[in-house]
Amino acid sequence: MIAEKLTREALTAFARESREAFEALLKEFVEVPTVSVDPTKKDAIREGAKLAAETIRRFGGEARVLDTPGNPIVSGSWGSNPDWPTVTVYNHLDVQPASRETEPWETEPFVFTKRGDRYLGRGTTDDKGPALTALFGIKAALEAGLPVNLRVLWEFEEEIGSPSFERGISAAAAELATDSVLVSDTIWIARGKPACPAGLRGLQGLRLTLETGTTDQHSGVCGGAARNPIAELMKLVSECFDATTGRVKVPGFYDGVVPPTKQELEDFRRSGFTVAGFKKDHLFKSLRTNDALDVMKRIWAMPTFEVHGVVGGYTGPGVKTVIPPRAEVKISCRLVPNQSADKVVKAIARFVKARNKDVQLHVEGRLDPYKGVTTGPLADAVKRSMKFAFKREPVFVREGGSIGAVVTMEKVLKVPVVFMGLSLPEHGYHAPNENFDWEQASGGMAAFARYFAEVAALGKPSRIAPPGKAAAARGAKPAKGPARKAARPAARKSGK
Ligand SMILES: [Zn+2]
Repeated sequence: MIAEKLTREALTAFARESREAFEALLKEFVEVPTVSVDPTKKDAIREGAKLAAETIRRFGGEARVLDTPGNPIVSGSWGSNPDWPTVTVYNHLDVQPASRETEPWETEPFVFTKRGDRYLGRGTTDDKGPALTALFGIKAALEAGLPVNLRVLWEFEEEIGSPSFERGISAAAAELATDSVLVSDTIWIARGKPACPAGLRGLQGLRLTLETGTTDQHSGVCGGAARNPIAELMKLVSECFDATTGRVKVPGFYDGVVPPTKQELEDFRRSGFTVAGFKKDHLFKSLRTNDALDVMKRIWAMPTFEVHGVVGGYTGPGVKTVIPPRAEVKISCRLVPNQSADKVVKAIARFVKARNKDVQLHVEGRLDPYKGVTTGPLADAVKRSMKFAFKREPVFVREGGSIGAVVTMEKVLKVPVVFMGLSLPEHGYHAPNENFDWEQASGGMAAFARYFAEVAALGKPSRIAPPGKAAAARGAKPAKGPARKAARPAARKSGK
């Protein structure tokens, strides 16, 4: 009976019948400009949270808006049968800024525009489209009467690094208790080739500043004797890493980095990644390497040292012969699983002090790297449902970016986190002309519905794989306070 409602034919019909409603809902969500980085958009965030809660109720769920010191989190819940497993789908409903005045948008970014099977607008692929796709997957699962409790967790601060997420979900951990989390906020490598991240890079922001004077001075009067803070910082940066190869020269920086396994490299090769496609998607004129596997290793499996900006001196037209009094370099390091952000910061601090004692190192925000679950019943369930929906088994690749909420959910909810992203490189993630498409949405609805059926078939969480060795290897501490109460004994037995 269950299977009948979730066959390919049934789910294709479900998607077809849901299409108009899906498009109307995506339009509603896209047209609320939930730009989390923009303090003038607080009302839109509130409106977005209200719309999210109303939508959950419209779909027959119970909705709650969780207040945090920052933007709210919206949770939705369908069913709470203690004999059934519970699965939570995480998405975020905040978006990157967008402007038709300053960026090459072909349409108004906050006006939903349908062009055939494509949906244009900020947030369509990141991450409102996938969130609503999951919601329709939930609808299909409910209609099929699956013995599984379903939850959504919708964040409104992902694009600014989830500053309030941990506090928000810790405070509500008891009611957010779940047996596993499915994150839908990642990108495939190519259309028709489903891919799931097996790990996410972390991030450590840093700033270097140097002050050697008080005001601009004339280089004719003082040049030769005066120190130049921009040039000294440039020298220091080039001592930290080789800008040609990207190799970091700070001793201890690579400690803990585990190279990809043979199986991972095999998945990388089968992912559909091409250097030409990568260059085209990101409008590069040249790269540090043109070897496909080398590019993949660099963007997914290796840490980086990146210079984002240099502040100081004269930047107007022509040359003005000043010696600036101060300068700043903005830096971040992408970190890979098993690297310790603390150790990296200490190593860089030691190195900087030894090379130039007047330089100040300012430690900025951090997101921990994440080693994903690629084996066990949940990973198998993801594989089977994606293969069912997209006719091809997904490959496990790494994700070069960071999703802070993932590490937080694993830590606070103490359950395994798996991924089922739907976005494609041509969807313009964080870029102008962001879009989503019906092929991914309709396939996604089927993939979610089948995943819920797989989880229902697994039954109670004692049979579900623990969060994996990664948490232990990272030294994740047992949850304190509300999280501990919330976690179910069976799901926590992991222990290793
Ligand atoms: Zn996203």
